Amino acid sequence: MEDIICQGCGVQIQTDDQSQPGFLPSSALNKEVIICKRCFRLKHYNEVQDVSYTDDDFLKMISQIRDNKGLIIKIVDIFDFNGSFIKSLQRLTGNNPILLVGNKVDLLPKSTNINKLKQWMKKSASDLGLTVQDVFLISAAKGNGMDELESAIEDYRKRKDVYVVGSTNVGKSTFINRLIDRSTGVSDAITTSYFPGTTLGFIDIPLDDKSSLYDTPGVINRNQISHYISDSDLKVITPNKEIKPRVYQLNEKQTLYIGGLARFDFVKGEKQSFVCYFANQLSIHRTKLENADQLYENHIGELLSPPNPETLKQLPSLKAHTIRIKEKKIDIVFPGLGWITIPNGEVTITAHSPEGVPTSIRTSLI
Ligand code: GDP
Repeated sequence: MEDIICQGCGVQIQTDDQSQPGFLPSSALNKEVIICKRCFRLKHYNEVQDVSYTDDDFLKMISQIRDNKGLIIKIVDIFDFNGSFIKSLQRLTGNNPILLVGNKVDLLPKSTNINKLKQWMKKSASDLGLTVQDVFLISAAKGNGMDELESAIEDYRKRKDVYVVGSTNVGKSTFINRLIDRSTGVSDAITTSYFPGTTLGFIDIPLDDKSSLYDTPGVINRNQISHYISDSDLKVITPNKEIKPRVYQLNEKQTLYIGGLARFDFVKGEKQSFVCYFANQLSIHRTKLENADQLYENHIGELLSPPNPETLKQLPSLKAHTIRIKEKKIDIVFPGLGWITIPNGEVTITAHSPEGVPTSIRTSLI
């Protein structure tokens, strides 16, 4: 096929894969004005859908932002901070200011300390080499926090362009759709003036006469657990309403399995109540530490699911990480799944998670 460019966003048109940038059904190729499916949906239904780029393509694409002055909005999923973090962003985006936005705040238990969560996000971003101007928590789905974020965007952008970046599944399309919904003049949400000479696939949403908000395609991130499981498994691990904490009183030498995707061993310490924050529909199994390996071997993919027997083949094996914890109220974070709060400290635990999706610890948010 000769190179055809989408007149909406500038991406190269292809007719093979719906989930990839630039898709257009071949039956629509003879139209006078050719726009990709993503731009088509935006134009006719005022709705964006995410398409995904691999890391390499994304890096090439995003490096274009470095030469353009503007504000960057980086969206992460607060349940998958590390997994949904795009590590090379700072290097590739030059000196543009960055606002870090944590999405899906509606899923947190009411007792969550929002300020602690913001501090943790800021510190984690900084540990990963990204300096951010400010941190916001929103629910793109429910609308929480949007007023505050929108006014911050106006303040920080100083009449310049805005680029929204995020890895797949963080809720970027939901966020953009909400912005479009809230703003007026929606009908020209896409323009034909893409960056000349580049194929970016950015969707251009005018903010005023001189500047625009650009939706960039999502990045597939290999540290995301969603990368390794099926769509139906993803439904099980993704919370769909406010999380109800589940409490387990454990003695030392007891183990919890989170489905079959993570494992928590209480190796040593005084009996205490561990509080689990995972999707309400994700099952947790308690067993003796000495039986834990056997249980996994016999029941992974059935009693311990997700994964299912099919997706089990593509799941990396669980990697163990043993930590001695002195402080009280520490969270062990399992990216993409949730976390377990250890109330009393003075314990040794082993956290197991799929290789490539490492666990981390933080001061408890609750
Ligand atoms: P994208 O791949 O980043 O564009 O993500 P989507 O906008 O398609 O959202 C991914 C998933 O997260 C979908 O199942 C959404 O319904 C869900 N989602 C997005 N925003 C929110 C939110 O604020 N709260 C909750 N609970 N779910 C959300």
